[in-house]
Amino acid sequence: MFRQRRRKKIITPEQNPPPHAAVLYLSPMLERRAVDIVVAVVAHEFAHIVLRHILFFLTPDEYDRQEQEVFSRIREWGFENEARKHAVLRKRRGW
Ligand SMILES: [Zn+2]
Repeated sequence: MFRQRRRKKIITPEQNPPPHAAVLYLSPMLERRAVDIVVAVVAHEFAHIVLRHILFFLTPDEYDRQEQEVFSRIREWGFENEARKHAVLRKRRGW
């Protein structure tokens, strides 16, 4: 019997209102970094979740705006030094 293929439906964040789950995966390679960098990266990623940022369908301007919001938020949380070091590392590596 012939089975019709279904197209995968892509759901945007606007179509998927809270509550919803978020998964934060951190590379094991992060353990090789200095502790302040690890703290900055973890805070950075949690800020994306708290700010309900989207990962897909972003224009470069939207991506940059989200990153600025994240750095502002982690500074508000008291991670000023870590945010500064993370931003320098990011810029140097072109993330
Ligand atoms: Zn980010």
